[in-house]
Formats: sequence, structure tokens, C-alpha cells
Amino acid sequence: MKLDTKSLRYLNPTDWRTLTAVETGSRNHEVVPTSLIANLSKSSLGDVQRSISLLAKANLIAKVKNAKYDGYRLTYGGLDYLALHSLQKNSAVYGVGNQIGVGKESDIFVVSDEKGEQRVLKIHRLGRVSFKKGVRNKRDYARTKAQKERGAGSWMYMSRLAAVKEFAFLQALHDAGLSVPIPLGQNRHQLVMSLIDGFPLRQIEKVPDPAGLYAELIEMLVRLCSLGLIHGDFNEFNILIREEEQGEDIKLVPVLIDFPQMVSVDHPNAEFYFDRDVECVKRFFARRFGFISTDNGPLFKDAKQLVGKDGVRRLDVEVEASGFSRKMARELEAYMKEHGVDGDAKRDETNDIDPSGSEDEEHDDDEDDDSDNPACNGVADTG
Ligand code: ADP
Ligand code: MG
Repeated sequence: MKLDTKSLRYLNPTDWRTLTAVETGSRNHEVVPTSLIANLSKSSLGDVQRSISLLAKANLIAKVKNAKYDGYRLTYGGLDYLALHSLQKNSAVYGVGNQIGVGKESDIFVVSDEKGEQRVLKIHRLGRVSFKKGVRNKRDYARTKAQKERGAGSWMYMSRLAAVKEFAFLQALHDAGLSVPIPLGQNRHQLVMSLIDGFPLRQIEKVPDPAGLYAELIEMLVRLCSLGLIHGDFNEFNILIREEEQGEDIKLVPVLIDFPQMVSVDHPNAEFYFDRDVECVKRFFARRFGFISTDNGPLFKDAKQLVGKDGVRRLDVEVEASGFSRKMARELEAYMKEHGVDGDAKRDETNDIDPSGSEDEEHDDDEDDDSDNPACNGVADTG
């Protein structure tokens, strides 16, 4: 989805209040009536009506006609603006540049800070497919009353959960010294991190020392496990390779990204996810570099022995304490499972990122067409 920022600087304080009012109202109204928008924005009806027409023209809110009453709902564009506005206020983002990634559930942009330094903005878009088509998943209607009140199950809430989760793990991993981007900010469904100057392993045809890189990646998986975590989508799409000069030599440094599927080692399917991550690395190294490890492992039961040993921190516990609760984790997981969100492990060659950044709108709506993908696919989830 495009991020059209040209109206960002034209919005006045009343417009922002009106947009925020539509967002607030959307938490428990599918269609937010104009009177409620005026009420929530604490502005006069006249001012609000002026703002509404401007916001609707910029596609930040959309008029909903086929309801019992006329009203508006927030669009993804509107949510994008609200989040960006907050990130700008916190100086996490100054300018927005090119789109560098288009996934089914996220968009990635290069942004800059005030000094012009480049960063990465990741926008989570869970539920984008059904949202765009204007049809809702049948099961959306079966939400419990409590979920409805909280807006749980909605694209807005779930996309925010994904961003909160990703940011929490990014912070914890960075803090523990793992090779990940630097976390720089998060608001609503968006997060900002440092830009890694490198390429996904997927795009790398040859490496000087496959055995060395393989060992490093396996070590990373085991280290994660010792910290209480399993990535859950550890594969050639989510490992960026950066080149680092070391004297005469150039060393390839793997950097791990993309954390919305991370689980604790205590998750009921932990072993399944651990084995799948290991298998993804093995399969990729065999296919791409012709490298096959003589070692059968690592095994989950061995890696798990390291959890909490010698006073090692437990990041799964820390993250839970830091605000991404177990309940939120369960909600997000249930939603992702229900909507078939299964990370990059299910992508195939035809789904690679278009480096021109142009997005094929139709393509987005495609159902999974990667049944013949040899990489890390077709393993039934046991849970
Ligand atoms: P998705 O959930 O859509 O797979 P990712 O977080 O894996 O999202 O990002 C998609 C792509 O965007 C990556 O494969 C990578 O090419 C690029 N990317 C993401 N984060 C960064 C970053 N911090 N630095 C550089 N490139 C990044
Ligand atoms: Mg990814």
C-alpha cells in the first residue's frame, strides 16, 4: 500500500483532532457518527464538518453509507498519518522516502531523521487482504462481546499488536547484544529501526565460507533459545547480510529481522518452531551453497537446557513484563493463525520484493500460490 504523505503538512490542529476522534470512535463503532466525531474532537460541528470533508478527500477517513446512519471509518491511510505524526513529534521520523519492501502483512519504507540519516519504517498491515476487498472474514463476526468492545480482531488492533510485539522483542534482543537493527521508535502499527546496509541472504548467490556462516546462524538460533526465545520465521528472507571490513578481510555479518512470530521456549509448539527454523537454514544452505552440515543438530531439548543457565536472562519473561503481555501474545497468535499469516517461510521466488517499489494492487489480493515452494513449506502446524 502506498504511503501518500503529501497532505501531512496541510492538516491543521482541528483536522488532527478530527482524525483522532474518528480513530477513538472506531474502537467501538464500525461506523462513527458525525455527532460523535464532533463530540470527541471537542470542536464545533461546523469546524468538524470542514475537517471531515478534507480528511475524506485525502482518503484518511471513508464515508460509510450502507449503515443505519451515515458516518465515517478510519482508513489505513488515516491510521498511517496518525502514527507518522506521532513518530515525527517524537523525532523518530523526519522525512519519508522510498518503499523498499512489500509483504502481505507489512510495508517497509526508508525514512530519515532530522540530520538526514536513513532509517527503516515498518508498517504492519494485518488483515489488509480482507480489508481491501471490503469483505470481512466470516469469523470476524463471531468475536466475543469483550473482544468487540476492545476492537480485538480488527485490522487496526491486530496491526498495532504486531508492531508492539516486534518492537518489544527488537528492544530486548538489541539490549542483550544480538545482531539486530537498533530499535528507534514505535507508534500504533508502525515501528522505526536502524537501516541495515546489506541484502537478505536470499539474494546472495555465493559466500566465501558457507560452513562458517552456517555455524554462525545456528549459533544465533541456539543463543536465542538460551535466552528463552524461538524466532519462528528464521530464514533467508529475514537474515540480512552486511559486509564489514576487518583489516584486509571482509567479513559477512548476519543481522536478524522480522519478529512478529517469535515465541517463548515454553510455547506448546516450541519444539516444532525450533526445528522448523533449523530446517530452513539447513535447506537453504544445501540448495544455495551446496553445503550440508555433518552435524544432525541442534536439537531443541539440548538448546533448551541452556535456558536460564548461569544466570542467563530470559527475554521471553522480560518482554512479557515490559508490556507485551501473554494475553496480547495469545490474541495475536490466534488472529495470525486464523488468517493464515505464516511469515516468510511460505514465500516463493515469484513473491520476491519488487525493488522498484511499485506495488501491484492485484497481486496483494492473491491467495497463497506457493504450494510448490520447496523452502520451509508444507509442514503442518501441530497446534
Ligand atoms: P515482512 O514481515 O514483510 O517480511 P521484514 O521485516 O522481513 O517484513 O522486512 C521485509 C524486507 O524489508 C526485508 O527482507 C529487507 O529486505 C527489508 N528490511 C526490513 N527491515 C530492514 C532494515 N532494518 N534494514 C534494511 N532492510 C530492511
Ligand atoms: Mg520478513
